[in-house]
Amino acid sequence: MGIPEERIERLHDLARRAVAEGHEDRSRAYVRRARRIAERNRCGLPLTFKRFTCDACDVYLRPGRNARVRLQDGHVVVTCDCGAQKRYPYRPRREERDDADATERARPN
Ligand SMILES: [Zn+2]
Repeated sequence: MGIPEERIERLHDLARRAVAEGHEDRSRAYVRRARRIAERNRCGLPLTFKRFTCDACDVYLRPGRNARVRLQDGHVVVTCDCGAQKRYPYRPRREERDDADATERARPN
């Protein structure tokens, strides 16, 4: 892991903690800084960072604190307190996926 990635991880952690402590604006500052680092270094952002940050207001999303999480039609829908929603496909648990793979392999052509 390079220096930009490490800085992003650190900011990710700080943003998460800031929300837990009720400092949402501080968390936005950390999220924005992490995004800028990713952009400048073209290193991308960790999946959890992308999933738990609001694209509209940049706050770090903590379900039960400032975000609501619902399952809807095979998607996870995360609603920020600002009203913005993000959705991504729900992936079945590993065991279920492996079962599906096994079924696929067992099927004769
Ligand atoms: Zn938001």
